[in-house]
This record gives sequence, C-alpha cells and structure tokens, in this order.
Amino acid sequence: MTKKLTGNQIRQDFIDFFVEHGHTAVPSMSLVPGGDATLLFTNSGMVQFKDVFVGTDKRPYTRAVDSQKCLRVAGKHNDLDEVGRDDTHHTFFEMLGNWSFGDYYKKEAIEWAWQLLTDVWGLDKTHLWATVFKDDKGNIPSDEEAADYWRLQPGFQKEQVLYFGRKDNFWEMAETGPCGPCSEIHYDRGEKYCDKQDVPGHVCAVNGECTRFLELWNLVFMQYNRLGPDTLEPLPATHVDTGMGFERIVSVLQEVNSNYKTDLFTKALDVLRSLTSHTAAEMQADFTPYRVVADHTRSAAFLIADGVVPGNMGRNYVCRMIIRRAARFGAKIGLHEPFLAKVAEAVIAEYGDFYPELKKNQATILDNLTREEIRFARTVEAGTAQLENLLSELRAANQTTLDGHRAFDLYATYGLPFEISRDIAREQGLDVDEKGFTEAKEIHSKASGGGKAMGKLGGEDSEFFAGIFKQLQKNKKLGEHGVEYDPYTGTQVDKYTGLEVLALVVNGESVESASLDDQVEVILPKTGFYIEAGGQVGDTGYLRFLPAPVMGRGGGGEGGAWEIEVAGMRRASAGVIVHIGEVISGQPKVGDKAVAEVDLVRRHDIMRNHTATHLMHAALHQVLGEGAVQAGSLVAPDRLRFDFNQPEAMTPEQIERVEKIVNDAIAADMPVTFKEKSLAEAKKEGAMALFGEKYGETVRTITVADNDHRYSYELCGGTHLDRTSDVGAFLIVSEGSAAAGVRRIEAVTGRGAYELIAKRFKALKQTAGALKSSVEEVPAKVESLQDEVSDLKKELANLRSQQALATFDLRLSTVQTVKDVNVLAVEIPDSTVDTLRMLADKFREKYPKGGAAVLVTGTTVIAVVTEDLVKRGVKAGDLITGIGGKGGGRPNLAQGSLPEGQVKDALGKVAKAVEEKLK
Ligand code: ATP
Ligand code: MG
Repeated sequence: MTKKLTGNQIRQDFIDFFVEHGHTAVPSMSLVPGGDATLLFTNSGMVQFKDVFVGTDKRPYTRAVDSQKCLRVAGKHNDLDEVGRDDTHHTFFEMLGNWSFGDYYKKEAIEWAWQLLTDVWGLDKTHLWATVFKDDKGNIPSDEEAADYWRLQPGFQKEQVLYFGRKDNFWEMAETGPCGPCSEIHYDRGEKYCDKQDVPGHVCAVNGECTRFLELWNLVFMQYNRLGPDTLEPLPATHVDTGMGFERIVSVLQEVNSNYKTDLFTKALDVLRSLTSHTAAEMQADFTPYRVVADHTRSAAFLIADGVVPGNMGRNYVCRMIIRRAARFGAKIGLHEPFLAKVAEAVIAEYGDFYPELKKNQATILDNLTREEIRFARTVEAGTAQLENLLSELRAANQTTLDGHRAFDLYATYGLPFEISRDIAREQGLDVDEKGFTEAKEIHSKASGGGKAMGKLGGEDSEFFAGIFKQLQKNKKLGEHGVEYDPYTGTQVDKYTGLEVLALVVNGESVESASLDDQVEVILPKTGFYIEAGGQVGDTGYLRFLPAPVMGRGGGGEGGAWEIEVAGMRRASAGVIVHIGEVISGQPKVGDKAVAEVDLVRRHDIMRNHTATHLMHAALHQVLGEGAVQAGSLVAPDRLRFDFNQPEAMTPEQIERVEKIVNDAIAADMPVTFKEKSLAEAKKEGAMALFGEKYGETVRTITVADNDHRYSYELCGGTHLDRTSDVGAFLIVSEGSAAAGVRRIEAVTGRGAYELIAKRFKALKQTAGALKSSVEEVPAKVESLQDEVSDLKKELANLRSQQALATFDLRLSTVQTVKDVNVLAVEIPDSTVDTLRMLADKFREKYPKGGAAVLVTGTTVIAVVTEDLVKRGVKAGDLITGIGGKGGGRPNLAQGSLPEGQVKDALGKVAKAVEEKLK
C-alpha cells in the first residue's frame, strides 16, 4: 500500500465508489430512531431501511449507500464492556453500507466489495478471507452461490472461503420476517497482531480468539421470510444489506494496530495529552483511560447533537452515564477540572464537515458536557466513598455481588450511574446486580411520576419549581412576574439587602432549612445576579444572613448567621430564578432575611470583556466587511472569545488593525448607553442582531457613540461598562479556525491584558538576557543565530557524509566473494538515506558487474545489485526481505527497514541470501 488516506477520504471513497455504481448517497439517520419504540438507539445501518425490507416503506431508489451513525450501549447490542479494553469496539461508531432493495444481489455485492478493497484501496489480496453460511442444524441450504462468487474474484485465494453456522453467518431481523445468509470479510493483519502469542496451543483463526483476524465487513443477503421457528419461505424479491466498520477499515488502510491510532482520534487524543502532559509513550503505557475518554466524548457529542442531553431516564440516562464515565476515566489520568468540552471541540473539528449537526450544536454540546461534569464533580466523592463502604461490607460478609437496589440508592443520592458503580466494583473483583438496579429505577420512576422527584439531577424539574411559584404567589410572596431580575442597575449591595429567603431546595426537595455543605437552590424576591445568556457567563457571589438590628449591638455573630456561596444561576421555570450554591457556614432558613452580593470584581472583568466584544465586532466590520458577522461568543471574566463568519485566516496586518481600532475606541472614552425598544424598531435602525439568539418583543439595545458618530449598535441583554475607557486595554491573544468558514478570536482586556503584557515582557527580557542583548536587538540577534545554526547544520551534514565515505572505504576491504559475486554488508552509523544511496552508487562504480551490497543506518536499509545479477535472479528487494526486513523498490535498488535490534544479525545473513537467489 502506498497511499495513506485520511479517514474522511476513506469515508468519501466508499460513498463515491457506490455512487459510481448507480447508488444514491443517503444521509445517516439520527442516533434516535424515529418512530421505533422498540429500539433505544440506532445500532446498525439497516435501522433506517427496516421498513423498506418489510415492505411497508418505498424509496425512490433501489440502490443506496450511506455512513450510518451507530450506538451500541444498550439492549441487544451492548459493547460497553469491550470499549476501552480492546481496539476495535466503540460505543459510537460509523457503519458504512451499500444497499440493494430488490435490485442487484450476491454477484455484484461480492464483486464490488472485492474491487473496492483491492483495486481502489489496494489491500493485499492474500490477506482477505471470506466466510459464508453453512447450516449447523442442516436445515437451510448452504450458501454455495456466495462461496462460488468469492472464488471467482481475481486474485482471491480459493482456500480462504470458510463456512460458518447460524451464529456468525445467518442474519435475522426478529423472530419472524426477512432474513438470510451473510458473508463476512475478515482481514488478516499478520501474526504479530495476535495478542495470544503466549497462550500455549493457541492457533490464530478467522472468528477465533485473538486479534490477528479482524472482522471488517458483513454482507447480508436477504432472501427468506421467516414464518416460524422452522419455516422459511423465499422472499418475492431479494435484498442486500452490508455493514462495514468505518473505524476498522481506516485502521487497516492507515496500517495501525488500533482504531484509536487512526487520524479519526488523533485530534482528540492530542488534546487529552496536552491536558495530562503525558508523552505519546506514557499514553500508550496506560491507554485504556485515553481510549474510554476519547470514545465516550465522541458518543456524547453525537448524542447531544441529536438532541439527547444528560438526564435520568432512558436515552438521557445513557448520555449522562457516558459523560460521567468519561469524567471518571479522566480522573484516572489526573484530569479533575471539567475537560470534556476541550476534547469535544476536537471531535467536532474532525467530524463537523461530514456531520454538520455537530457544528450547528457546538455550543450546546460543549455546554452540556461541562455542566454535567460540574454536576457530577459535586457528588462523586461522597458517592464513591459511600460505595467503598458498601463494598467493604460486602467483602466482610463474604459476598461478591452488590444489591442493585443499593446501587440505585447511590445513583438517586449521589448521581453515581450503575455502570460506574459496576466499574469500581469490578476493579476490586466484585460485581453489581444489574437487574436489581433496573428494577429499583423503575419503581422509583413510577413512584415519582416519571422521574420528576429526582429534581435537579434531571434538569426536568420545571414543573416542580412551577409548583413552588404557585405557592409563593398564593402567599403573596411573589407577584405574577415572579422573581424580579435586574443585573443592570442593581448589583449594589444596598439594593439587595433585607431580602426574604422564599424557598430552599436541596436534592430536588423543598426544605425549611439547609445545613452546612448542602448543595442548595435559593429563591429570593429579586436578584442582581446575571443569568448566563448571549455568551456572557453568569455571576457568582454570596448570600449572607442579615441579622435583625438589635438595640445597642452591631450585626453579625448571632446564632443565625449563615453564608451561601453562589456558583451559578438558572431560570428553573417561568418566573422562577434560582441561585445555585453551597452552604459554607450556618443553617439558612426559609423566612430569614439576607443580603445578596454579586462578586463585583469578577463582574467588572466580565463587563470589560463584553463591551470590548462589541467594539471588536464593529472593528471587524470595518476591517473585513459586513460579512464578518458573529457566529458565537463567550464573555468570561478572564477572556473573551468571538466566532465570526470569515472564509479565510486574517492576515497579521488585519489583526493589528482590529486591535488598534479597538484600543483607539477605548481611548476615545465614549459613553456606552442602553435603551429598550421594540425589536422591529431596533432592527430598522440597523442594530446588529445575533445569529441563533431568541429575542422578545422588546429588546435592549447597546450603543457606543461619540457626539456625532455611532461606533457600535447591537441588540444585547448583557451587562456593560458606562464608558469605553474602562476597558483599559485590549489585546488579541489568538486568531484561528473555529469551523469551516468561521474564524475565532480570543482576546483579553483590563487586568487580563496587563497580566499578558507583563508575562510577555518578562519572557522577552529573559530572552534578551540569554542572548546578551538589549530587548530591541532580540529579533536581529535571533536571526543571526538562525543563520549560524543553518551553516553549522550544512557543515555537519558534510562532515557526516565524508565520515560515511571513509567508513565505507574502509569496509570495502570486507567484501566477501560468494561464488563469483562481490558481496558487501555494512552498517554506517549516523547517516541518512541520501548518503546510503550515494554510497550505493560508489559501490556500483567499483563493481559494475557481479556486485551486491546491503547498507544500513539505524534501521533503514538500502540494497543494491548490479544488472547482471538481476538477470541471474538476485533482486534488491529480495535481499531485504531475505534478511528479515521489510521494503521494496526497483530490482536493482530497494529501500526498507530492519527490525529494531536485529541489524547485526541481518547483516550476517546477506551473503547467504545472495547465494540462495543466485541461479
Ligand atoms: P463484532 O463481532 O466485531 O462485535 P458484529 O458481528 O457485532 O462485530 P455487525 O453487527 O455485523 O458486527 O456490524 C457490522 C460491522 O460493524 C462489523 O463488521 C464491524 O466492522 C463493525 N462493528 C460492529 N460493532 C462495532 C463496534 N462496537 N465498534 C466499531 N465497529 C463495530
Ligand atoms: Mg458485536
């Protein structure tokens, strides 16, 4: 094989090949099979064509080709146990398929499969094996037709058709209905891929125990209709349904021994490795956590893109479980902060072109991952500690299986999914009873009216909060609009003092008081905390007990004092805004009076970044044109991130101009003003509205303007500075690609800008110090050093080749004579392929006839033989393989490699290899 195709090219090759053969390219169906209540997830290519086979659906085509998204983590197909432990099973994977609906049949299906694998992709024909059906019960005829077609394929090794029984080679959709024999294609990766080499008596075989033979592709021929356990009738029309594991074919074509070493996973694993700071070798040494995280993140990203977010039941539970399991395996390699979003970005970058739903839902995917990690992190330690206790008890009682009901309690209380409890139990040689868990889950879900009582865990608790709202309205604690929200003018503490605690929610239940360390949700009559929206992150801060004024005594220090650290905000249902936090001291009670304090330092940083975002958006329009519209935005305290439509990378000059325009706007000290308007009016006036943002009837508009000049005008619900000068300074940190046609800028302002300048300046001073120059002279100094290095490199290369020549001349005296042939076998240390080739020419000059030489440096080997010897049967490539190497080339000159550590041995075999070939 010569060409190394990328995964994306391989997928496209497959589709193109079948389109050329009259197939219609059909998009993948969703991972959530529409209208199929029997199936949790799409688990093979045929799901979207099931009704066509049964005859209840008709398509405008009779031949189709697709790459189907599949998930095998539930029901009949559950590969979760394999994932991470092996290199060929994933939870999510793609299945490539070609389909015939009453059109072509076995002849073409086999012919085309063969052509694609061998002609188009150049797989070695001797490595391919086919299996066909032979009934182990002796009732259904053997599929000799398929076997014969295989034997007819050009270059197919006739003895490599094998017969297997019902389990492997007969496919049925259900107890009754369409079914038929199938034919699998297996690829022999070679002896060294066997993972059972140490097992005495092991023999590698197709459908065997080891990893040498890889099942690649399954061709299903539907020709029968099953009426009952023993009755088949022929179908009126026959169909073809094929499924090839995409990741597996990519691993074969890219010649790697693991799906995870294909380019499909490179980006994700690189991100992970940059987070753990492991080297590639360290990663390989403990590959399982990497495999699990990469696999699960990919699954979660695709699931969320198809609308399945983390939750408590059914599909949503699976999404939650996968994310939590990924987080736990991440912890095994030292990742504790939320990190999955970063990995998911890499997944989206790899797959977003073919599966646009990933790009479209990028923000939702990243957001859900991070939230779920945070949610899990809050309880995981308590949960695992509790589990450890249960497991110790189990061991003490000499038992091995943990009661499923108790495992469910761990889930209900600490959010520890069954699969994670089982992982942990298994790591200690114990197990968890799955049936009991499912049972307990069902009981619980019925008792609580469909999982609602699990409250916060599910995020499906809006009815619960609507109930609280109704009650508060009835008691006249809240008006019809609910909690008053003013993050704009109202961050001052004095405005938010003396607020009554209206409700406290702990673990999804309304409580009268909360205790130390409780995760609590707090409802107050009004709030100045910003709720994450429009890219601007939510506020954090504190709620504190406000002591009633007591005569002659100051506040504080009373028995009732308490404090809640607010980590985030959410709208739990219409009219209900909750502060999400943790009790860090005391015992807050419903009815207590409180002060709500936004973390103003952090908020101020956020506002700098938000106002700067507007300034930059306007600057981008000036520099790049009106097409540079916003495609996404993040406004955080430490940085701003801005995605915008732009087909190509910005030039350094453009970036500098944008930076300058923004800093000029800052220096101009313009006022930033807001006004409420009707949406229609604001749009008519040319306010920039943001893509994908939902606006109400009345909107807030933010204007940055000089006396006579309007600099920026946007619809925006975020919080802003009063004047631009308050941004301080604005620096672009990076400009890069966010997606096809979308660029991303990250920038810092204010305190962040100062920190960046200070850091860069320090590095520059250190560099100048090391170069013994002034800061101004650094560029010139570096340039001259680079010149010097490149001269030295040239000189070194020269010296090396002279040295190689000297060694070579010396070794010419070791030429052996085998029959009448001059044979040379030498190792030239520290050399290059080019030098070896030069030496090969030297050798031929010296021995224009009757000469054969093998030259090695490192493990690279070059073999050269003179023309007369080629005619006598000695080929350069054969010399390399004859001494245990791999490689090829022309008959008189070949290049290849020798196995590590066997160079000396190999060189010793050269003379014999020549002798054997000589005719
Ligand atoms: P295996 O025995 O390897 O689990 P299978 O018999 O379950 O495979 P099929 O149901 O025939 O596989 O699916 C068709 C193809 O999909 C297989 O030939 C294989 O290449 C691929 N495949 C199956 N399961 C997975 C998985 N979990 N991850 C990646 N690829 C898979
Ligand atoms: Mg399987």
